[in-house]
Amino acid sequence: MKALLLFANRYTRVHKANGHNCTSELRVPLARRVVSALIGATVCLSPSVFAHNSYLHTNGEQISSPVSHSSEESIAPTCHDVSLQVLGSGGPELDDGRTSSGYVVWVEGKARVLVDAGSGSSVQFGASGAQFADLSAILLTHLHTDHAADLPSYVKGSFFTSRDSDLALLGPDGNGVMPSTSAYLNTLLGQDGAYRYLSSYTQKAQDDYTIYPTSVSLNASLSSPFVSTLSETVTVEAISVHHGPIPAVAWKVKANGCTLVFSGDTNDKSNTLSAFAASADLLVLNNAIDDNAGVVARNLHMTPKQIIAIAKASGAKRVLLSHIMKRSEPGLAALLEAVSVVAPGRVYGAKELMNITLGKE
Ligand SMILES: [Zn+2]
Ligand SMILES: [Zn+2]
Repeated sequence: MKALLLFANRYTRVHKANGHNCTSELRVPLARRVVSALIGATVCLSPSVFAHNSYLHTNGEQISSPVSHSSEESIAPTCHDVSLQVLGSGGPELDDGRTSSGYVVWVEGKARVLVDAGSGSSVQFGASGAQFADLSAILLTHLHTDHAADLPSYVKGSFFTSRDSDLALLGPDGNGVMPSTSAYLNTLLGQDGAYRYLSSYTQKAQDDYTIYPTSVSLNASLSSPFVSTLSETVTVEAISVHHGPIPAVAWKVKANGCTLVFSGDTNDKSNTLSAFAASADLLVLNNAIDDNAGVVARNLHMTPKQIIAIAKASGAKRVLLSHIMKRSEPGLAALLEAVSVVAPGRVYGAKELMNITLGKE
């Protein structure tokens, strides 16, 4: 059965019916009917489906309004003028050809939130055209280098920008393995920090702006999430997620009626991601391992099978698979296909600088 599913994923293009007229469908290969039975979803094949699936493989280009889609039309009135741009689609590897994690949430044409600050993301930030002065906050999912190492680079780079308003830095609290986000900032940029020459940015009224850190409680949960209002248009929420021994949080950004959820690195041990991301306009899931990963990797990351299940259960309107590593890249195309079968909306494989528009422009 597993082999058939893999076959179906690799060699057929399938898509949940979603308004397509399946009665006019051509013959459906056996493998596809098996997929349908496995996931309990109706699948059909039509020219428009091929158009849709070619969209799945759009890489590195500006993505504007997707092909007309019934579920998107229903959300258009509330979610508008927001997009998500990928700065880094990779993990910590040196030779994967990808930048480490980083995402910009654009609201009404301005870069308002930076999610993760992984290695190299500051270079892509400049390439995206984002202005550091426009950021309301930097959100860190956790403090692994591929998610947080560029923080000093952003701060130093900001010297050459027009930023003059304070900046919020939000990330997880610490434990015996990792410092809290506040301690991380202080260790790097405090008066006794490694980059103490930049400490004026962490001391009140000592420079053009001050960075104010907040460490999110590791007890933040679905029933009691961390919540912070960043501005009139942007609110963020976080829940603690399991990433082996590393304190980690999943972030939710709400802006202009749009909801974006970032899993960060996690194995979703507490099985909370799908509820946290329920009906989100965009769900970013980290695809760092394959289904054959060992115990240690599975304690840190979601397997592709989990990703499919989370995407389906969440009902997210768009799913972006990111944090691609050399061990997960070979299975990415098949995983994108499989998620497209179960998820109600668009599915994307992340590439540097791709920009996904939410709602109507
Ligand atoms: Zn990572
Ligand atoms: Zn990590």
